Amino acid sequence: MALFNTKVDPKANKLTLAIDIGGTKMAVGLVDADGNASHVDRTPSPANQRGDAMWDALNRLLDKVLDDAGNPEITGVGVGCAGPMIWPEGVVSPTNIVGWREFPLRRKLKERFPGIPVRLHNDAICMAIAENWKGAAAGHQNALGMVVSTGVGGGLIVGGRLVDGGFGNAGHIGHIVIDPEGPACRCGGRGCLEAISRGPATVAWAVEEGWKPHNSSDPLDAKTLAADAHEGDEIAIAAYRRAGWAVGVGLASCAALLDLDVAVIGGGLVQAGDILMAPMKQAFDEHAGMTFVKRMKIVPAELDQLAGVIGAAALFAEDDRYWSAGD
Ligand SMILES: [Zn+2]
Repeated sequence: MALFNTKVDPKANKLTLAIDIGGTKMAVGLVDADGNASHVDRTPSPANQRGDAMWDALNRLLDKVLDDAGNPEITGVGVGCAGPMIWPEGVVSPTNIVGWREFPLRRKLKERFPGIPVRLHNDAICMAIAENWKGAAAGHQNALGMVVSTGVGGGLIVGGRLVDGGFGNAGHIGHIVIDPEGPACRCGGRGCLEAISRGPATVAWAVEEGWKPHNSSDPLDAKTLAADAHEGDEIAIAAYRRAGWAVGVGLASCAALLDLDVAVIGGGLVQAGDILMAPMKQAFDEHAGMTFVKRMKIVPAELDQLAGVIGAAALFAEDDRYWSAGD
């Protein structure tokens, strides 16, 4: 009689401490080898403060999550962080986190967790690999994951593997050019997808066209704009149509370049639903010519708020597919 199960999968007990850092909030959780997340907690990012505010807030959250979980054994620390960054060194300078300029996040975390490997990638890449591992792109060998939010980001899986690019920045769909005569982009370019479709740009366009929130106490943001669009506000509808149109045009180009099976769309603007997704699909259909381009499916993300931590954990749990940089 066996008192102990000797056939325990050696991977089953592996627990990754997973971290997702953005300009609005940061999340920390524990993720097992099967992608199950637990003890996920969040805190607002003090992204507009200088100095050590971000690092201190992150450490408080790490302490809290590890305490709440009873300080379990951790076999890896996975991180998704807003870019740009120098990869795989993990030296980050996120556009929307002013206190971090060439901040050596990966090295700092290695010092915080001695002897435990730390792996870090772009937050949009973590979203893409999470959706490929456990979400809407599961089972597909060729997928684009993208986020339409304060910024527009993405990550690419081609031939079943994450495409890193030379410096870890492949999949930056937010900065492909949609309209050469279009608005200036904060990257330094002009007419980028992000400059047209990101939430603040969509709101700014609507304001310029004369939109005012129906409820004057509501903030001038993408959520209010979506609510007004759903009430039939024509400028708000046109603003979302413009944002969705640009994404659809960009997707047709990506599908042609990469022969993709699926594009998974997440991020705050997608909460608006069909007022964004319908013009997106229409623009894609209009611009997708060849049969292999047309075949790409456009689907909403499934993992939502958990995508960041699950993707960060995938840098360990599925490292043959998603981590190419060694330890
Ligand atoms: Zn740009």
